[in-house]
Amino acid sequence: MPDYDDQNIFARILRGEIPNDTVTESEHTLAFNDITPQAPVHVLVIPKGAYVDYADFHANASDAEIADLHRTAARICAERGVTASGFRTISNAGEHAVQEVPHFHLHLLGGRPLGRMLARAAE
Ligand code: AMP
Repeated sequence: MPDYDDQNIFARILRGEIPNDTVTESEHTLAFNDITPQAPVHVLVIPKGAYVDYADFHANASDAEIADLHRTAARICAERGVTASGFRTISNAGEHAVQEVPHFHLHLLGGRPLGRMLARAAE
């Protein structure tokens, strides 16, 4: 796993150096709208701590940070009205998943039918 790059765009958002469209914030977690939404609901949920990816976060964050992030994500789904209609969470990690921003984040997507999980054409 690469070292954490504190110049990544989400680190800069957390430091207030660039703006974001905040959805909600809690002790350990920030959630904001994706700048290029792929569904009517497309929220990014990120820890305030410096974690590169899914594996780093779940191995090294405290139980409180982990619970806070996932409870925040579930609360946003309820508040955005997609809990019943359905939604998808995605965490891209590393090269095969084409992770663009090296700060762990959960995509929350919903508000329309999302189709099957993966397209086969790119295989
Ligand atoms: P990933 O490929 O999983 O790393 O996804 C990174 C996501 O960050 C993409 O969906 C981008 O649209 C989103 N993104 C990049 N810069 C910003 C920004 N300044 N504010 C909100 N979302 C962003």
